[in-house]
Amino acid sequence: MSGLYLHIPFCRKRCTYCDFHFSTTFENYRARLVQAIATELALRANELNLPIRTIYFGGGTPSILSFAELESIFAAIHKNYHLAPSCEISFEVNPEDINETNLNFWKTLGINRLSIGLQTFSDDDLHWMNRAHQVNDGLAGIRLAQGCGFKNISVDLIYGLPGQSLAAWATSLNEVFKLGVQHLSAYCLTIEPKTALNHLVRQKKLQPADEILQSEQFLLLVQQAKAHGFEQYEISNFGLTGFQSKHNSAYWKFQPYIGVGPSAHSFDGSSRRWNVRNNTQYMNQVGKNDKWFETEQLSPNERRNEQILLGLRTIWGLDLHSLEADWNQKESAQIEEFARLNWLTISNNHMVLTEKGKLHADGIAAALFRVD
Ligand code: SF4
Repeated sequence: MSGLYLHIPFCRKRCTYCDFHFSTTFENYRARLVQAIATELALRANELNLPIRTIYFGGGTPSILSFAELESIFAAIHKNYHLAPSCEISFEVNPEDINETNLNFWKTLGINRLSIGLQTFSDDDLHWMNRAHQVNDGLAGIRLAQGCGFKNISVDLIYGLPGQSLAAWATSLNEVFKLGVQHLSAYCLTIEPKTALNHLVRQKKLQPADEILQSEQFLLLVQQAKAHGFEQYEISNFGLTGFQSKHNSAYWKFQPYIGVGPSAHSFDGSSRRWNVRNNTQYMNQVGKNDKWFETEQLSPNERRNEQILLGLRTIWGLDLHSLEADWNQKESAQIEEFARLNWLTISNNHMVLTEKGKLHADGIAAALFRVD
């Protein structure tokens, strides 16, 4: 399994909650940045010796790219990489970019999976989030994409929003499962430092959601997804049978991938690498083939900790055979305690979190981490 991630660091607006890497003032250098991505694709052509099984365009906002920009990126992909015949090509789309012309063009490029950032069914929420679309844009966009023949569509939602009641979240879930999409990613809002949302909360202009309510919203999400035939294959990801994201599943299964573009991360099975999180530096350094990334070799403990963190988030669980060393006495006692609380089960050498346990996933993983 080999995956290719492309980070497109352009956005129209700065969403209040977002701490990803992107710029809203990119018009005068967008061509140079796209060229740098094509160059990086060429420079790294020999890193993965297996056919590419998945490609994921994330960001930022990939759907901002013009036809010519996308063509040049796809030309660089096809020139330098061998794509498996059934390659999953996912493309993150903002609702305001959806129209028939774009959809048909994206299809001709081989894009076969759309991830549409709906985020919420409330225009008031979209307003304080500073999103560039309204609810109806998202709904119309999904219908249009379906009409254009996209048969693998994922929708992104955020819950745990300031002022969002359990009833309002129930209504959103009711609406999303009527859309006829195949996949849902639903994330609980986190208030990241250095975001406008953090500022709004500190100024008491927005009241963060209560954690107990967020847990209730999560449990409702899990229940509703199950009732509609969506399998929760990762804590925040739900798919109909056969529609799990192959790309993201490979991350969670600790498989290698390369990430191209500013701030993109890569993993080769033993080391992690991350590109510079600055568009100008990225363009300059890639252009000169002058190291535009940093690399870190994972120690046995770091490797083990990552396996625990990722594995426990999934339906497949943590493969105990693959861990570097057995549990020590303290860890075994901790695991017994988690099992007693009905937070996890172990069978066929896999440790899997229960629904109750998923509410504490990060804490359970952290309790089993080893420090160098
Ligand atoms: S469009 Fe996406 S990447 Fe861009 S600011 Fe909004 S949430 Fe962040």
